[in-house]
Amino acid sequence: MSFPEPERSRVRRWLAEEDPVRLLELWTRADQIRAMTVGHQVHLRGLVEISNHCVRSCRYCGLGSFNRDLPRYRMTLEEILECARRAQELGMGTVVLQAGEDLELTGEIVARTIRAIKTETSLAVTLSLGERSPEDLGTWRDAGADRYLLRFETSDQRLYRGIHPARGTDKVGRMDLLNRLRDLGYEVGSGVMVGLPGQSTESLVRDLEIFEELDLDMIGIGPYVPHPRTPLGNERGQEDALMGVLSPCERVLLTMKMVALARISCPEANIPATTALSTIDPDSLAVCLSRGANVVMPNLTPLEARFRYEVYPGMARTEEVEEGSISDLADLLAKSGRSLGVGAGGRTRRRFPCRDAVG
Ligand code: SAH
Repeated sequence: MSFPEPERSRVRRWLAEEDPVRLLELWTRADQIRAMTVGHQVHLRGLVEISNHCVRSCRYCGLGSFNRDLPRYRMTLEEILECARRAQELGMGTVVLQAGEDLELTGEIVARTIRAIKTETSLAVTLSLGERSPEDLGTWRDAGADRYLLRFETSDQRLYRGIHPARGTDKVGRMDLLNRLRDLGYEVGSGVMVGLPGQSTESLVRDLEIFEELDLDMIGIGPYVPHPRTPLGNERGQEDALMGVLSPCERVLLTMKMVALARISCPEANIPATTALSTIDPDSLAVCLSRGANVVMPNLTPLEARFRYEVYPGMARTEEVEEGSISDLADLLAKSGRSLGVGAGGRTRRRFPCRDAVG
């Protein structure tokens, strides 16, 4: 399914637009659609980075197995459970368990963790554990997992193969896995990085089409942040890909455009203001929430682990999420008539025709 040609060229024009006054139209449209579909609530998802072990060597990611200097950790069930309790105490409706592709987090260990969280709390459980076997994904769904996040990273297949080497044992790709997750009854999230060296505007248009094709429940869009300890992010990698490297500022703006356009083409999706955006520009959180986003993912990982979960530099913030920071966020939201989400904040389906509104 592709956008009709007039819509493709409108999307292309927005992605190239530099005039802040014209862009205001895009931001306003996205914000209106957000208000009409997912409403004024901003849902908090407590992020717990449960392991930084990874069997893969994705060329953009600091957790890749090539990064031998990185001390590795894996949280215990009790440690994870403690973070989930904290999420509940802080009034969040969801806990997100994220990790590198760590095969020692076996199907059974993760299933036990999910069952423990489901027994002790009323939280929705989202998993983001990479490309795992369809059997494991089924086991976790049976154990009570509600949602799964797996970004396809870019629709440009040549670029993807170049930055995301396949593992010998891969039987199914990310697209197949996303369809299986849907069949298993998960709410499905995916997304892309924006500003990868060599990424074309045309592929960003295609990314948006795929979001719609997959009828995603959650869409994560973040700027690419080069990591000096990765093949893609070290200086040579940058030189090799000099064509098409955007400045941090350009990556932030392009990411915001993608968020706004994703809101317009997938009006009901839950869309976070991503951590990568805030890493490049701390003020972008509030801005992104006014341009289509409706989710924030505060990091609940214990500090000593958090510093080792360095997917990209500057990712780990020292601030502990606490009652104070949540009420500061609530105050900030109240200024624009928004409020903190209540409950699990899953996807709600309302039929709302705004496909022709990319205008
Ligand atoms: N192992 C899991 C979780 C990976 S981290 C998985 O592969 O799905 C989650 C996301 O961080 C990735 O999907 C990717 O989109 C993003 N990411 C990785 N490296 C990044 C970088 N250098 N800059 C910005 N985002 C990055």
